Amino acid sequence: MKKIITRFAPSPTGYIHIGNVRSAIYPYLAARQSGGRYILRIEDTDQARFVEGATELIEDTLKWLGLEWDEGPEVGGKNGPYFQSERKAIYQEWAKKLIEKGRAYADPTDSETIQRYRDEDSAKKIPYLYRNHRPKEAEKSPEEILKTWQEGTPIRFKADPKPRKWHDEVMGDLHAGPEVQDDIILIKKDGLPTYNFAHIVDDFLMNINMVARGVEYLSSTPNYLALYEAFGIDRPLLVSLPHILAPQGNKKLGKRDGAKSATEYRKDGVLPEAMLNYLACLGWNDGTEQEIYTKEELIKHFSLDHIQNSGARYDEVKLLWMNGQWIRRLMEEEGADKFYVRTLDFWPKSAEPFDDAYKKQVLSIIYDRLKTLSDLRAMTGYFFEDPIFDIEQILGNKFIKKTGLSEKELASLLETVTEKLGSLDSWNEETLKATLNELLEQTGRKPAELFSLIRISVSFAPFSPALDLTLNVLGKNVAMARLNKVKEALLLDQQ
Ligand code: GLU
Repeated sequence: MKKIITRFAPSPTGYIHIGNVRSAIYPYLAARQSGGRYILRIEDTDQARFVEGATELIEDTLKWLGLEWDEGPEVGGKNGPYFQSERKAIYQEWAKKLIEKGRAYADPTDSETIQRYRDEDSAKKIPYLYRNHRPKEAEKSPEEILKTWQEGTPIRFKADPKPRKWHDEVMGDLHAGPEVQDDIILIKKDGLPTYNFAHIVDDFLMNINMVARGVEYLSSTPNYLALYEAFGIDRPLLVSLPHILAPQGNKKLGKRDGAKSATEYRKDGVLPEAMLNYLACLGWNDGTEQEIYTKEELIKHFSLDHIQNSGARYDEVKLLWMNGQWIRRLMEEEGADKFYVRTLDFWPKSAEPFDDAYKKQVLSIIYDRLKTLSDLRAMTGYFFEDPIFDIEQILGNKFIKKTGLSEKELASLLETVTEKLGSLDSWNEETLKATLNELLEQTGRKPAELFSLIRISVSFAPFSPALDLTLNVLGKNVAMARLNKVKEALLLDQQ
């Protein structure tokens, strides 16, 4: 298998869209599978879009997901620098190579004139192509251009428009006509390169042999092919990743469609294993029904030809389902002690005074109900403080209503419960399980009725883990106090 040397080349614009994360995953998998290299390159030449702290955010997200890079920021490498803003001289040198070959020119045309060309073409209803307005400066000799060029004047490519054919690993065999090839800008006014130019130079110098990026770059590919040709360099494998689609309709997933950024999902307690799994499978499958993949399995099974060539629909419900699966799996594989470390940021405030051992106990009875780790905040409050007392909630419960019992009768049912539980010398899962079963027999009530009454009395929560487990973790004192409190309130209420 050919070793894939590839890169993730994000622009540090602050917000890490789910689609960007997927663009980081596929090249990683291809590199690891083939024993190749995965490079992180920060494309920060668009100063207007640069956001402070965005690079750190990208690095953190990759580390979080376990997508370690072999070359790039922090780790270095022989092909650096890995920030494009530090490679300005390299791009200018490469632009000059094209000038020398007669394939680029310095263009003094001001932006008002360029706008006028656009307007004129649009009035004539002809497609705007800059090469139709190529300035006379383009005809100067390379020597003359090189002698007089100064930063501040953009450098443009001299297009060689002709039919072009190429193969895209996802989109198949493609072709484009001359009408999409133009005199694109290579070096901007500020002396920095455009994306169109910089990535060609960098991919070549960094020995990249596979480029996986969003399908939005497909329409510019004929221009890229012209640049490879002008330099006389081989092009890498091209992999266009289809858009991720919004949950509804046929549009690209945007911020407004409810999809959060990778950072927000992380803050909400989505596990990196689940995020990686979900995004890798969003538009890729190995041809089987398997849905849960570890990183190692993804590396083993990944193949470019199983990437779908149409947009995959984003489905947050599925992501959260997968996260629930991963919580269960990792809790069982790693054990509560280790898994607990992942949950530290997600407990309710009221849990602060409690020790780790107690929280681990809570975790071990509730983990299989969590969709995200932040569910801990909403679902565990009653383990740490007395719930807000609400007698109506008890009376309104559908199972309790079904009993048809009056408040007095409910209180006396609780009296039986407290007597029996109160007499327990040893309070543990087994004794509680046995005692609850005895109570069913003794009272002749259905489990849904009796257990709902006890569960609500101790938790006032719509759900709780199995009752014996919940009572066990709460401990005898707390459980008894809450049951008694409800019993008394019922008696008081009916008077
Ligand atoms: N900087 C580009 C982006 O963030 C990278 C595209 C590419 O991977 O070449 O979209």
